[in-house]
Amino acid sequence: MTSTLITGIGQLVVDASRPPLHDAALVVDDGRVAWYGPRSGAPASDDVVDIADRCIIPGFVDSHSHLVFAGDRSAEFEARMSGESYTAGGIRSTVSATRAATDEELTRHVQRLVQEMRRQGTTTVEIKSGYGLTVEDEARSLRIARQFTPDTTFLGAHVVPGETDPAEYVALVTGAMLRAAAPHATWIDAFCERGAFDADQARTVLEAGRAVGLKGRLHANQLTQGPGVQLACELGLVAVDHCTFLSDPDVDALAQTGTIATLLPGVEFSTRQPWPDARRLLDAGVTVALASDCNPGSCFTTSLPFCIALAVRDMGMTPAEALWAATAGGARALGRDDGGTLDVGAPADFIVLDAPSFVHLAYRPGVPLVAQTWVQGHRVHDATSARDTTTSNAQTPRGTHHG
Ligand SMILES: [Zn+2]
Repeated sequence: MTSTLITGIGQLVVDASRPPLHDAALVVDDGRVAWYGPRSGAPASDDVVDIADRCIIPGFVDSHSHLVFAGDRSAEFEARMSGESYTAGGIRSTVSATRAATDEELTRHVQRLVQEMRRQGTTTVEIKSGYGLTVEDEARSLRIARQFTPDTTFLGAHVVPGETDPAEYVALVTGAMLRAAAPHATWIDAFCERGAFDADQARTVLEAGRAVGLKGRLHANQLTQGPGVQLACELGLVAVDHCTFLSDPDVDALAQTGTIATLLPGVEFSTRQPWPDARRLLDAGVTVALASDCNPGSCFTTSLPFCIALAVRDMGMTPAEALWAATAGGARALGRDDGGTLDVGAPADFIVLDAPSFVHLAYRPGVPLVAQTWVQGHRVHDATSARDTTTSNAQTPRGTHHG
C-alpha cells in the first residue's frame, strides 16, 4: 500500500464536535487516516496532494434514503407548489413504475443517484426498499441496493398497497416478504403514521425483523404527534427518523434512551410543513442526525449541504452542530462508531471544500462547494479536473496535484 499526504489544508475538521485545526495536514494509509496534525510536522509519504488552503471535513453519512425507484413525480410537486392539495395517489405511481422497470433500469438509476450524492460529499449512504411491496419486488430492490451499500433497509411496511387488507399485508411483510428480503438487508423499518401503519403493526414488523437478525429503525412523528417515537425508544432502536411533531414525553424518552433523532428537513422544505425543532432536542440532550430522505414524492434531494443550510437557518442548529449531525451523527444512526470523523484509524472518507471554512456550507447555500470526495483513501469525485477541461490554466487552483 502507498501512503498519501494531503497537505495545504487551510482548515481541517477532524470531528465537528471539536474546534477545527488550521494549516494542517493528513496522512492516508490503507484506506484509513494514519496521521493528522500541523502541516510543518507531517511525516514523509509516498504521494503528496496539496489542496491549496482549502477546507477538509469528514464525508457526509446519509443514514436515510429511498433510492430504488422508477418514474418521475415532478408534475405532482408542481401541482402541490401551485396550491393543489396533496393526494395519496403519488406513491402508487412510483410503485407501478418500479415494478415495471427492469433490474438494469433500477440499477442504473440508483447508480446515477449515488454518483450525484458523491458529487455533494456523501461518502456513506443507507438505501431502503419500499416501492416494490411484493415479495419479489422488495427482494430485488434490496439486492440492487446491496451493490451500493451494506446499509440496506427492508421497508416493506412503507404503505399498504392498493386493495390489500392491512392485517393480511402485515402478515405478508412479516412472513414470505421478510424471508425473501432478509438475506439482502441489514435493517428493518416501518412507516408508523396515521394512514400507514399503527404502533401495534409497526411493533409486529420490527420484532419479526429482529427475530431474523435485522436491526430496527423507524419512520415516526412526521405528520402527527403519533406513538412512533415512544415505540422506537421502548424497543431501544438505534434511530427514529423524521421527529417533526414531538410531545415533551417524546423528547424525554429520546434523551433517556439515547435513540438518535434523525431529522430530514428536505421533506419539510418540499412539502411546506413546519420544521423539526432541532434546538429543542439538542437542549434536552438528544443526539441529532441529519439525512436527506431522498425519495421521489416528499423530498427529491440528494444534497446534505442543502439539509445543513436548512438546519442552520430554520432549525436552530449552529453550523458545527449541523455538520456533526450530517457526519458523525449519521454514522451513529447507522450503528457505526468510527464513521463521520477523521480521527486516526477512521476510514479516510472526506471532502475537500472549495471554501476556507466549513461554515460556508450554510453561509453559501446552493453553491456547489464540494471540490473532491474521497472514500477509503480514494478520490471518487474531483470537480476540479472536470472543470480543467473547459477552463484555461490560469483559472486552475494552484498546486492541486503534486507527486
Ligand atoms: Zn423516508
